[in-house]
Amino acid sequence: MPAQSIKPPAPNVDFYDLAGTLTPGELALVEQVRAFMRTKVAPIIDEYWIEDAFPFELLPAFKELNLGGLGLEGYGCRGGSAKLYGFVAMEMARVDPSFCTFFGVHDGLAMGSIYFDGSDEQKRTWLPPMARLEKIGCFGLTEPEVGSGAAGGLMTTARREGDAWILNGRKTWIGNAPWCDISIIWARDVADSQVKGFIVENKLTPGLSVEKIEHKISLRVVQNGLITLDNCLVPEANRLLSANSFKDAARVLRKTRFAVGWMATGCQMGAYEHAVAYALERHQFGKSIAAFQLVQDLIAKMLGNVTACQCLLLRLAAMADEGKVQDAHDSLAKSFCTARMRETVAWAREILGGNGIVLDYEVARFFADAEALYSYEGTLQMQNLIVGKAVTGHSAFV
Ligand SMILES: Cc1cc2nc3c(=O)[nH]c(=O)nc-3n(C[C@H](O)[C@H](O)[C@H](O)COP(=O)(O)OP(=O)(O)OC[C@H]3O[C@@H](n4cnc5c(N)ncnc54)[C@H](O)[C@@H]3O)c2cc1C
Repeated sequence: MPAQSIKPPAPNVDFYDLAGTLTPGELALVEQVRAFMRTKVAPIIDEYWIEDAFPFELLPAFKELNLGGLGLEGYGCRGGSAKLYGFVAMEMARVDPSFCTFFGVHDGLAMGSIYFDGSDEQKRTWLPPMARLEKIGCFGLTEPEVGSGAAGGLMTTARREGDAWILNGRKTWIGNAPWCDISIIWARDVADSQVKGFIVENKLTPGLSVEKIEHKISLRVVQNGLITLDNCLVPEANRLLSANSFKDAARVLRKTRFAVGWMATGCQMGAYEHAVAYALERHQFGKSIAAFQLVQDLIAKMLGNVTACQCLLLRLAAMADEGKVQDAHDSLAKSFCTARMRETVAWAREILGGNGIVLDYEVARFFADAEALYSYEGTLQMQNLIVGKAVTGHSAFV
């Protein structure tokens, strides 16, 4: 009797039913985001990736999702739990880590800086138009000479002159910078050597210029810029009033590292889904490659990585919503999930053989984009040093 052919199940990237923990309202929003990503983003994103360009054509439909200020309360923000923020980020990155990064920089880093470090008046002024995505923001911390060592080494300076500040320096890798409206610039006050944050209006500040960073091999859709600040005059009213040291910038980064954990998980999910679908379709030696033991081993290892990250993040989100999270918790999530992501996307690429390096077969974009997620918002080494300090009590920085 011939072997019975069975219809293979669709790849299930929610193997432990995490979606079952969402409320009906949360699930509805996640499904809306999924529909947007699948119907609007997925069909066009490869072309933008090739062109190294941002898909401005998506912004009107994206605005309709009303996601601005997700995870932040009041001031016209969408609000919602840490868990909801995580699920939305994961869902976006599952289709396109670049588009998710654009949103993360605006919502998490730029709006987050004003939300956590701004005065009530500053929040009332800046957050509503940013929540409506009328004004888009970026976050300028990294400098050409200072990346991982930003805590003690920022070279951009801020000098008080009457009711204003004069900023001088350079910021590199800044996502959204080539086209956005507002930059959060972190600079060292020459008077007390402390790091302070400033809201700088890109298009209205003489002396501010941005050069696009070209030739990236990762997250090509996100536009990164090198910002030069040449005697930029910023009113005292635009200094983030609760940002008095690097710790206040780090408070923003803690939240966004949590988000990068979710994005790294979404990136793996996208690569996994496409790899399993490909394995089911591709035939060698007269049968589907999905029927080979060694291919199933890769599939099981990928699913194990995805599921481990999802479960870790779900628990971390619950701790965040209970106010129990410390720096090291977020750092461990960022380093663990991005390291697992790097393995997963490489295994997905492997399953596609030669087609794994061609953009047309979907997995290559996740493979390439994973590299930036792995390094930004603090490298694996920096996160593990934070974890190591919390565990041992010894700071091994430097
Ligand atoms: C696509 C992309 C987008 C980004 N977006 C932004 C943004 O919007 N805003 C922003 O401010 N920044 C942004 N960044 C910058 C990012 O946060 C930095 O690239 C990152 O923090 C690492 O800094 P670096 O690249 O200067 O590497 P370096 O600090 O030079 O590190 C190089 C290597 O040395 C290792 N290393 C350094 N110090 C130590 C140590 N003490 N012990 C052990 N190992 C060490 C690092 O782990 C790394 O492997 C972005 C980066 C990328 C690639």
